[in-house]
Amino acid sequence: MVVRRPRHIPIRSCVVCRESSDKRRLLRVVRLPEKAGGVVQFDPTGKLAGRGAYVCADEKCIALAHKQKRFERALSVTQDKMSVDLFDRLRSSKGEDAGGADSISELTSNPVLSNE
Ligand SMILES: [Zn+2]
Repeated sequence: MVVRRPRHIPIRSCVVCRESSDKRRLLRVVRLPEKAGGVVQFDPTGKLAGRGAYVCADEKCIALAHKQKRFERALSVTQDKMSVDLFDRLRSSKGEDAGGADSISELTSNPVLSNE
């Protein structure tokens, strides 16, 4: 199998700080193909097909990526294509190898009291 090297080699680097060192764990975010909805979501397995972008497993980079819409820019998407829980999932993934005792997020939905 011949490995071709195109001029533009995609480098796994953080969309915020551009760090690409192997020491820092990078979390993959993927834009699914159009036929799959073109949605941008967290890819914990790193195996999903689509265009990928990366962010450090670091609170600061995740927060900045969110604030500055780095994934939208990196993947050429509009905000409505962003998975709503993307950043929550990135944050919880970031912490999973640093203890992870209380990984259950308290996303209790407000019960609608319609019969009162
Ligand atoms: Zn970073």
